[in-house]
Amino acid sequence: MTATPVLSASLTAIAGLRCKECGTEYAAQATHVCEMCFGPLEVKYDYAKIKRNVSREKIQSGPHSIWRYKDFLPVESDHPIDVGTGMTPLIKANRLAQHLGLKNLYIKNDAVNMPTLSFKDRVVSVALTRARELGFSTVSCASTGNLANSTAAIAAHAGLDCCVFIPADLEAGKVLGTLIYNPTLMAVNGNYDQVNRLCSEVANTHGWGFVNINLRPYYSEGSKTLAYEVAEQLDWQLPDHVVAPLASGSLFTKIYKGFREFVEVGLVEDKAVRFSGAQAAGCNPIATAFKQGRDFITPVKPDTVAKSLAIGNPADGVYALELARKTNGNIEDVTDAEIIDAMKLLAETEGIFTETAGGTTIATLKKLVEAGKISPDETTVVYITGNGLKTQEAVHGKIGAPLTIEPQLESFEQALKQAQPLDQLGKQPVLA
Ligand SMILES: *Cc1c(COP(=O)(O)O)cnc(C)c1O
Ligand SMILES: [Zn+2]
Repeated sequence: MTATPVLSASLTAIAGLRCKECGTEYAAQATHVCEMCFGPLEVKYDYAKIKRNVSREKIQSGPHSIWRYKDFLPVESDHPIDVGTGMTPLIKANRLAQHLGLKNLYIKNDAVNMPTLSFKDRVVSVALTRARELGFSTVSCASTGNLANSTAAIAAHAGLDCCVFIPADLEAGKVLGTLIYNPTLMAVNGNYDQVNRLCSEVANTHGWGFVNINLRPYYSEGSKTLAYEVAEQLDWQLPDHVVAPLASGSLFTKIYKGFREFVEVGLVEDKAVRFSGAQAAGCNPIATAFKQGRDFITPVKPDTVAKSLAIGNPADGVYALELARKTNGNIEDVTDAEIIDAMKLLAETEGIFTETAGGTTIATLKKLVEAGKISPDETTVVYITGNGLKTQEAVHGKIGAPLTIEPQLESFEQALKQAQPLDQLGKQPVLA
Protein backbone atom coordinates (compact mmCIF):
# COMPACT_ATOMS: atom_id res chain seq x y z
CA MET A 1 0.00 0.00 0.00
CA THR A 2 1.13 3.52 -0.71
CA ALA A 3 0.97 5.92 2.18
CA THR A 4 0.44 9.16 0.29
CA PRO A 5 -0.20 12.13 2.53
CA VAL A 6 -0.69 15.77 1.50
CA LEU A 7 -3.04 17.06 -1.15
CA SER A 8 -2.95 20.56 -2.61
CA ALA A 9 -1.63 21.92 0.65
CA SER A 10 -1.67 25.54 -0.44
CA LEU A 11 -5.47 25.53 -0.60
CA THR A 12 -6.36 23.74 2.58
CA ALA A 13 -5.22 22.86 6.06
CA ILE A 14 -6.21 19.19 5.54
CA ALA A 15 -2.93 17.33 5.64
CA GLY A 16 -4.45 13.93 4.88
CA LEU A 17 -5.84 11.06 6.94
CA ARG A 18 -4.05 9.29 9.78
CA CYS A 19 -4.71 6.01 11.56
CA LYS A 20 -5.75 6.64 15.16
CA GLU A 21 -3.98 3.45 16.25
CA CYS A 22 -0.69 3.13 14.34
CA GLY A 23 -0.31 6.60 12.79
CA THR A 24 0.01 5.46 9.16
CA GLU A 25 -0.93 8.32 6.85
CA TYR A 26 -3.17 8.30 3.79
CA ALA A 27 -4.37 10.76 1.18
CA ALA A 28 -7.68 12.47 1.95
CA GLN A 29 -9.82 10.09 -0.11
CA ALA A 30 -13.01 8.11 0.65
CA THR A 31 -11.46 5.59 2.98
CA HIS A 32 -11.89 4.97 6.69
CA VAL A 33 -9.94 1.89 7.80
CA CYS A 34 -6.17 1.51 8.14
CA GLU A 35 -4.75 -1.12 5.76
CA MET A 36 -2.00 -1.89 8.27
CA CYS A 37 -3.92 -2.43 11.51
CA PHE A 38 -7.65 -1.95 10.71
CA GLY A 39 -7.75 1.08 13.02
CA PRO A 40 -10.07 4.01 12.20
CA LEU A 41 -8.72 6.91 10.13
CA GLU A 42 -8.98 10.50 11.25
CA VAL A 43 -8.41 13.79 9.41
CA LYS A 44 -5.05 15.37 10.10
CA TYR A 45 -4.56 19.14 9.90
CA ASP A 46 -1.76 21.63 9.70
CA TYR A 47 -2.55 23.58 12.87
CA ALA A 48 0.25 26.10 12.36
CA LYS A 49 -1.44 27.01 9.12
CA ILE A 50 -4.89 27.22 10.73
CA LYS A 51 -3.47 29.39 13.50
CA ARG A 52 -2.14 31.90 10.99
CA ASN A 53 -5.55 31.97 9.28
CA VAL A 54 -8.09 32.28 12.08
CA SER A 55 -9.14 34.85 14.63
CA ARG A 56 -12.21 35.42 16.80
CA GLU A 57 -13.13 38.37 14.57
CA LYS A 58 -12.87 36.34 11.37
CA ILE A 59 -15.10 33.62 12.82
CA GLN A 60 -17.65 36.13 14.10
CA SER A 61 -17.89 37.83 10.73
CA GLY A 62 -18.44 34.48 8.96
CA PRO A 63 -21.75 32.86 8.03
CA HIS A 64 -24.38 32.19 10.73
CA SER A 65 -23.83 28.44 10.36
CA ILE A 66 -21.18 25.77 11.01
CA TRP A 67 -19.28 27.18 8.03
CA ARG A 68 -17.96 30.07 10.10
CA TYR A 69 -15.53 27.36 11.34
CA LYS A 70 -14.61 26.19 7.83
CA ASP A 71 -10.88 26.58 8.54
CA PHE A 72 -11.25 23.65 10.99
CA LEU A 73 -13.36 21.43 8.72
CA PRO A 74 -12.12 18.84 6.18
CA VAL A 75 -13.33 20.45 2.97
CA GLU A 76 -11.58 22.37 0.21
CA SER A 77 -14.50 24.04 -1.55
CA ASP A 78 -15.19 27.75 -1.19
CA HIS A 79 -18.85 26.86 -1.58
CA PRO A 80 -19.72 24.24 1.03
CA ILE A 81 -23.31 23.01 1.25
CA ASP A 82 -24.81 25.58 3.61
CA VAL A 83 -28.39 24.86 4.62
CA GLY A 84 -28.15 26.96 7.76
CA THR A 85 -26.87 24.12 9.90
CA GLY A 86 -25.48 25.04 13.29
CA MET A 87 -25.43 28.16 15.48
CA THR A 88 -28.21 26.67 17.58
CA PRO A 89 -29.12 28.35 20.87
CA LEU A 90 -27.06 27.92 24.03
CA ILE A 91 -29.57 28.56 26.79
CA LYS A 92 -28.92 29.26 30.45
CA ALA A 93 -31.25 26.67 31.97
CA ASN A 94 -32.13 28.32 35.28
CA ARG A 95 -35.35 26.48 36.08
CA LEU A 96 -33.91 23.04 35.32
CA ALA A 97 -30.76 24.00 37.23
CA GLN A 98 -32.80 25.01 40.27
CA HIS A 99 -34.76 21.75 40.10
CA LEU A 100 -31.54 19.74 40.01
CA GLY A 101 -29.59 21.84 42.50
CA LEU A 102 -27.09 23.26 40.00
CA LYS A 103 -26.01 26.87 39.58
CA ASN A 104 -24.49 27.16 36.11
CA LEU A 105 -26.30 24.89 33.70
CA TYR A 106 -26.49 25.50 29.95
CA ILE A 107 -28.37 23.62 27.26
CA LYS A 108 -26.97 23.42 23.73
CA ASN A 109 -30.22 23.00 21.85
CA ASP A 110 -29.76 21.01 18.64
CA ALA A 111 -33.43 20.05 18.78
CA VAL A 112 -33.79 23.12 16.57
CA ASN A 113 -30.83 22.50 14.29
CA MET A 114 -31.48 23.07 10.58
CA PRO A 115 -32.74 21.57 8.37
CA THR A 116 -33.97 18.37 10.05
CA LEU A 117 -33.93 19.20 13.78
CA SER A 118 -31.06 17.08 15.03
CA PHE A 119 -27.31 17.40 15.48
CA LYS A 120 -26.86 15.03 12.49
CA ASP A 121 -27.32 17.99 10.13
CA ARG A 122 -23.82 19.08 11.21
CA VAL A 123 -22.07 15.87 10.25
CA VAL A 124 -24.04 15.45 7.04
CA SER A 125 -23.39 19.02 5.82
CA VAL A 126 -19.67 18.29 6.12
CA ALA A 127 -19.84 14.75 4.69
CA LEU A 128 -21.86 15.70 1.63
CA THR A 129 -19.67 18.71 0.90
CA ARG A 130 -16.68 16.35 0.96
CA ALA A 131 -18.60 13.70 -1.04
CA ARG A 132 -19.20 16.22 -3.79
CA GLU A 133 -15.52 17.22 -3.79
CA LEU A 134 -14.51 13.58 -4.11
CA GLY A 135 -16.84 13.13 -7.09
CA PHE A 136 -19.64 11.00 -5.63
CA SER A 137 -23.04 11.37 -7.28
CA THR A 138 -24.88 8.95 -4.96
CA VAL A 139 -24.78 9.30 -1.19
CA SER A 140 -25.98 6.89 1.44
CA CYS A 141 -25.90 6.02 5.13
CA ALA A 142 -26.69 3.41 7.76
CA SER A 143 -28.98 5.24 10.16
CA THR A 144 -30.72 4.97 13.51
CA GLY A 145 -33.21 7.56 12.17
CA ASN A 146 -31.92 11.11 12.36
CA LEU A 147 -29.04 10.45 10.00
CA ALA A 148 -31.47 9.23 7.31
CA ASN A 149 -33.50 12.45 7.73
CA SER A 150 -30.38 14.61 7.37
CA THR A 151 -28.80 12.72 4.51
CA ALA A 152 -32.03 12.67 2.49
CA ALA A 153 -32.75 16.36 3.10
CA ILE A 154 -29.28 17.74 2.43
CA ALA A 155 -28.77 15.44 -0.58
CA ALA A 156 -32.03 16.82 -1.99
CA HIS A 157 -30.79 20.36 -1.51
CA ALA A 158 -27.44 19.56 -3.13
CA GLY A 159 -28.99 17.57 -6.00
CA LEU A 160 -27.26 14.29 -5.09
CA ASP A 161 -28.86 10.88 -5.56
CA CYS A 162 -29.64 9.30 -2.21
CA CYS A 163 -30.27 5.78 -0.91
CA VAL A 164 -30.51 5.39 2.86
CA PHE A 165 -30.81 2.37 5.13
CA ILE A 166 -32.69 2.17 8.45
CA PRO A 167 -33.83 -0.60 10.81
CA ALA A 168 -37.48 -1.39 9.88
CA ASP A 169 -38.83 -0.73 13.39
CA LEU A 170 -38.10 3.03 13.62
CA GLU A 171 -40.52 5.69 14.87
CA ALA A 172 -43.09 6.87 12.29
CA GLY A 173 -41.77 10.44 12.46
CA LYS A 174 -38.29 9.37 11.49
CA VAL A 175 -39.55 7.34 8.53
CA LEU A 176 -41.88 10.07 7.27
CA GLY A 177 -39.17 12.66 7.90
CA THR A 178 -36.97 10.76 5.46
CA LEU A 179 -39.53 9.81 2.80
CA ILE A 180 -40.69 13.40 2.27
CA TYR A 181 -37.37 14.13 0.52
CA ASN A 182 -38.01 11.17 -1.81
CA PRO A 183 -34.77 9.21 -1.48
CA THR A 184 -34.62 5.46 -1.97
CA LEU A 185 -35.31 4.23 1.57
CA MET A 186 -34.32 0.69 2.54
CA ALA A 187 -36.03 -0.48 5.75
CA VAL A 188 -34.03 -3.50 6.86
CA ASN A 189 -35.51 -6.26 8.98
CA GLY A 190 -32.78 -6.14 11.59
CA ASN A 191 -31.16 -3.88 14.17
CA TYR A 192 -28.75 -1.02 13.46
CA ASP A 193 -25.66 -3.18 13.76
CA GLN A 194 -27.03 -5.49 11.06
CA VAL A 195 -27.94 -2.49 8.88
CA ASN A 196 -24.40 -1.17 9.30
CA ARG A 197 -22.82 -4.48 8.31
CA LEU A 198 -25.01 -4.66 5.19
CA CYS A 199 -24.05 -1.10 4.27
CA SER A 200 -20.32 -1.87 4.54
CA GLU A 201 -20.84 -4.56 1.91
CA VAL A 202 -22.86 -2.20 -0.32
CA ALA A 203 -20.14 0.47 0.03
CA ASN A 204 -17.60 -2.02 -1.30
CA THR A 205 -19.67 -3.04 -4.30
CA HIS A 206 -21.54 0.11 -5.39
CA GLY A 207 -19.04 2.94 -5.12
CA TRP A 208 -21.45 5.16 -3.21
CA GLY A 209 -20.45 7.71 -0.62
CA PHE A 210 -21.68 6.39 2.73
CA VAL A 211 -21.51 9.34 5.07
CA ASN A 212 -20.82 7.23 8.16
CA ILE A 213 -18.78 4.47 6.51
CA ASN A 214 -16.29 5.37 3.75
CA LEU A 215 -16.76 9.11 4.40
CA ARG A 216 -16.72 8.68 8.18
CA PRO A 217 -13.42 10.55 8.77
CA TYR A 218 -14.99 13.69 7.23
CA TYR A 219 -18.50 13.16 8.59
CA SER A 220 -17.34 12.79 12.17
CA GLU A 221 -15.40 16.08 12.04
CA GLY A 222 -18.73 17.91 11.69
CA SER A 223 -19.42 17.18 15.37
CA LYS A 224 -16.51 19.42 16.37
CA THR A 225 -18.77 22.39 15.63
CA LEU A 226 -20.74 21.42 18.78
CA ALA A 227 -17.60 22.41 20.69
CA TYR A 228 -16.69 25.52 18.70
CA GLU A 229 -20.14 27.02 19.05
CA VAL A 230 -20.32 26.43 22.79
CA ALA A 231 -16.88 28.02 23.28
CA GLU A 232 -17.89 31.03 21.20
CA GLN A 233 -21.29 31.32 22.92
CA LEU A 234 -19.63 31.18 26.36
CA ASP A 235 -17.71 34.27 25.28
CA TRP A 236 -14.62 32.33 24.20
CA GLN A 237 -14.33 30.15 27.27
CA LEU A 238 -14.56 26.42 27.81
CA PRO A 239 -17.10 24.96 30.25
CA ASP A 240 -16.09 22.84 33.27
CA HIS A 241 -18.19 19.82 32.41
CA VAL A 242 -20.10 18.53 29.40
CA VAL A 243 -22.78 15.86 29.35
CA ALA A 244 -23.57 14.31 25.95
CA PRO A 245 -25.32 11.21 24.59
CA LEU A 246 -23.40 8.20 23.24
CA ALA A 247 -24.47 6.05 20.30
CA SER A 248 -21.29 5.20 18.37
CA GLY A 249 -19.40 7.49 20.76
CA SER A 250 -18.26 9.73 17.93
CA LEU A 251 -19.83 13.07 18.80
CA PHE A 252 -18.58 12.77 22.39
CA THR A 253 -14.95 12.39 21.30
CA LYS A 254 -15.24 15.12 18.67
CA ILE A 255 -16.48 17.71 21.17
CA TYR A 256 -13.22 17.07 23.02
CA LYS A 257 -11.21 17.37 19.79
CA GLY A 258 -12.95 20.67 19.00
CA PHE A 259 -12.09 22.17 22.40
CA ARG A 260 -8.45 21.01 22.09
CA GLU A 261 -8.15 22.59 18.65
CA PHE A 262 -9.44 25.95 19.89
CA VAL A 263 -6.82 25.82 22.65
CA GLU A 264 -4.11 24.75 20.19
CA VAL A 265 -4.66 27.74 17.88
CA GLY A 266 -5.06 30.19 20.75
CA LEU A 267 -8.77 31.02 20.44
CA VAL A 268 -9.53 30.02 24.05
CA GLU A 269 -7.52 29.50 27.22
CA ASP A 270 -6.69 25.97 28.21
CA LYS A 271 -8.90 24.35 30.82
CA ALA A 272 -9.56 20.81 32.03
CA VAL A 273 -13.08 19.97 30.82
CA ARG A 274 -14.78 16.90 32.30
CA PHE A 275 -16.66 14.67 29.86
CA SER A 276 -19.65 12.60 30.96
CA GLY A 277 -21.59 10.32 28.61
CA ALA A 278 -25.21 9.15 28.57
CA GLN A 279 -26.64 5.81 27.46
CA ALA A 280 -29.95 4.01 27.77
CA ALA A 281 -29.98 0.97 30.06
CA GLY A 282 -31.40 -0.98 27.12
CA CYS A 283 -28.25 -0.25 25.08
CA ASN A 284 -25.39 0.46 27.46
CA PRO A 285 -22.21 -1.23 26.20
CA ILE A 286 -20.01 1.81 26.90
CA ALA A 287 -21.52 2.56 30.33
CA THR A 288 -21.11 -1.08 31.35
CA ALA A 289 -17.44 -1.16 30.36
CA PHE A 290 -16.92 2.12 32.24
CA LYS A 291 -18.52 0.84 35.43
CA GLN A 292 -16.70 -2.49 35.28
CA GLY A 293 -13.36 -0.77 34.77
CA ARG A 294 -12.78 -2.57 31.46
CA ASP A 295 -10.93 -1.05 28.49
CA PHE A 296 -12.85 -3.03 25.87
CA ILE A 297 -16.51 -2.98 24.84
CA THR A 298 -18.74 -6.04 24.87
CA PRO A 299 -21.47 -5.59 22.22
CA VAL A 300 -25.11 -5.81 23.31
CA LYS A 301 -28.44 -6.35 21.55
CA PRO A 302 -30.34 -3.06 21.93
CA ASP A 303 -33.81 -2.89 23.46
CA THR A 304 -34.70 0.68 24.37
CA VAL A 305 -37.10 3.49 23.59
CA ALA A 306 -34.03 5.61 22.73
CA LYS A 307 -33.75 4.20 19.22
CA SER A 308 -31.47 6.94 17.91
CA LEU A 309 -28.84 5.80 20.44
CA ALA A 310 -29.39 2.08 19.86
CA ILE A 311 -25.96 1.01 18.60
CA GLY A 312 -24.98 -2.24 20.29
CA ASN A 313 -21.45 -2.35 18.85
CA PRO A 314 -20.23 1.26 18.99
CA ALA A 315 -17.40 2.12 16.57
CA ASP A 316 -15.87 4.78 18.83
CA GLY A 317 -16.81 3.14 22.12
CA VAL A 318 -13.27 2.61 23.40
CA TYR A 319 -12.31 6.20 22.62
CA ALA A 320 -15.37 7.49 24.48
CA LEU A 321 -14.46 5.27 27.41
CA GLU A 322 -10.88 6.57 27.49
CA LEU A 323 -12.08 10.16 27.26
CA ALA A 324 -14.49 9.91 30.21
CA ARG A 325 -11.74 8.32 32.30
CA LYS A 326 -8.92 10.70 31.43
CA THR A 327 -11.07 13.80 32.01
CA ASN A 328 -12.41 12.58 35.35
CA GLY A 329 -15.93 12.26 33.92
CA ASN A 330 -18.46 9.43 34.07
CA ILE A 331 -20.61 7.29 31.82
CA GLU A 332 -24.05 6.44 33.18
CA ASP A 333 -27.11 4.65 31.85
CA VAL A 334 -30.80 5.26 32.58
CA THR A 335 -34.00 3.28 32.19
CA ASP A 336 -36.71 3.95 29.61
CA ALA A 337 -38.99 5.24 32.41
CA GLU A 338 -36.30 7.69 33.51
CA ILE A 339 -35.84 8.79 29.89
CA ILE A 340 -39.55 9.62 29.50
CA ASP A 341 -39.65 11.44 32.85
CA ALA A 342 -36.62 13.48 31.82
CA MET A 343 -38.22 14.44 28.48
CA LYS A 344 -41.18 15.78 30.47
CA LEU A 345 -38.93 17.50 33.01
CA LEU A 346 -37.01 19.33 30.28
CA ALA A 347 -40.23 20.38 28.56
CA GLU A 348 -41.85 21.62 31.80
CA THR A 349 -38.82 23.46 33.13
CA GLU A 350 -37.26 24.87 29.98
CA GLY A 351 -39.83 24.68 27.18
CA ILE A 352 -37.73 22.29 25.11
CA PHE A 353 -39.33 19.20 23.57
CA THR A 354 -36.53 16.75 22.94
CA GLU A 355 -36.59 13.23 21.59
CA THR A 356 -35.66 10.14 23.58
CA ALA A 357 -31.92 10.77 23.10
CA GLY A 358 -32.30 14.11 24.88
CA GLY A 359 -34.34 12.40 27.60
CA THR A 360 -31.44 9.99 28.03
CA THR A 361 -29.00 12.87 28.43
CA ILE A 362 -31.15 14.84 30.91
CA ALA A 363 -31.88 11.70 32.96
CA THR A 364 -28.15 10.98 33.08
CA LEU A 365 -27.42 14.57 34.11
CA LYS A 366 -29.91 14.17 36.96
CA LYS A 367 -28.45 10.87 38.06
CA LEU A 368 -24.90 12.26 38.06
CA VAL A 369 -25.93 15.33 40.07
CA GLU A 370 -27.76 13.17 42.61
CA ALA A 371 -24.69 10.96 42.96
CA GLY A 372 -22.51 14.02 43.61
CA LYS A 373 -20.60 13.45 40.35
CA ILE A 374 -21.35 16.93 39.02
CA SER A 375 -20.85 19.72 41.50
CA PRO A 376 -23.33 22.62 41.72
CA ASP A 377 -20.70 25.23 40.86
CA GLU A 378 -19.37 23.62 37.70
CA THR A 379 -20.33 25.38 34.47
CA THR A 380 -22.06 22.43 32.89
CA VAL A 381 -23.20 22.19 29.27
CA VAL A 382 -25.69 19.49 28.39
CA TYR A 383 -26.14 18.61 24.72
CA ILE A 384 -29.71 18.14 23.47
CA THR A 385 -29.28 16.47 20.10
CA GLY A 386 -32.76 15.80 18.69
CA ASN A 387 -36.39 16.93 18.51
CA GLY A 388 -39.32 15.39 20.38
CA LEU A 389 -41.78 15.72 17.50
CA LYS A 390 -39.93 12.85 15.84
CA THR A 391 -40.44 10.36 18.68
CA GLN A 392 -44.02 11.09 19.74
CA GLU A 393 -44.71 7.40 20.39
CA ALA A 394 -42.43 7.59 23.43
CA VAL A 395 -44.67 9.98 25.35
CA HIS A 396 -48.01 8.97 23.90
CA GLY A 397 -50.45 8.29 26.77
CA LYS A 398 -47.88 9.50 29.32
CA ILE A 399 -48.75 13.20 29.21
CA GLY A 400 -51.95 15.16 29.87
CA ALA A 401 -54.97 15.31 27.56
CA PRO A 402 -56.84 18.40 26.32
CA LEU A 403 -60.03 19.42 28.14
CA THR A 404 -62.69 19.25 25.45
CA ILE A 405 -65.35 21.93 25.91
CA GLU A 406 -68.30 23.52 24.14
CA PRO A 407 -67.78 26.93 22.56
CA GLN A 408 -69.47 28.63 25.54
CA LEU A 409 -68.05 30.52 28.51
CA GLU A 410 -69.82 28.37 31.10
CA SER A 411 -68.42 25.19 29.60
CA PHE A 412 -64.95 26.71 29.86
CA GLU A 413 -65.57 27.81 33.50
CA GLN A 414 -66.77 24.34 34.43
CA ALA A 415 -63.80 22.64 32.84
CA LEU A 416 -61.42 25.07 34.49
CA LYS A 417 -62.73 24.09 37.92
CA GLN A 418 -61.86 20.47 37.24
CA ALA A 419 -58.47 21.36 35.86
CA GLN A 420 -55.35 21.62 37.94
CA PRO A 421 -55.38 25.21 39.21
CA LEU A 422 -52.87 27.16 37.16
CA ASP A 423 -51.40 28.91 40.19
CA GLN A 424 -50.63 25.67 41.96
CA LEU A 425 -48.33 24.25 39.32
CA GLY A 426 -45.29 25.55 41.15
CA LYS A 427 -44.41 27.73 38.19
CA GLN A 428 -42.36 30.37 39.82
CA PRO A 429 -40.34 32.40 37.39
CA VAL A 430 -36.61 32.28 37.93
CA LEU A 431 -34.72 35.43 37.14
CA ALA A 432 -31.55 35.11 35.12
C1 LIG B 1 -26.80 9.80 16.25
C2 LIG B 1 -27.30 10.51 17.45
C3 LIG B 1 -26.51 10.65 18.61
C4 LIG B 1 -25.18 9.99 18.84
O1 LIG B 1 -24.23 10.04 17.87
P1 LIG B 1 -22.83 9.28 17.91
O2 LIG B 1 -21.91 10.29 17.34
O3 LIG B 1 -22.98 8.08 17.04
O4 LIG B 1 -22.50 8.90 19.32
C5 LIG B 1 -27.03 11.40 19.65
N1 LIG B 1 -28.25 11.96 19.59
C6 LIG B 1 -29.03 11.84 18.51
C7 LIG B 1 -30.38 12.48 18.53
C8 LIG B 1 -28.59 11.13 17.39
O5 LIG B 1 -29.39 11.02 16.33
ZN1 LIG C 1 -3.22 1.62 11.58
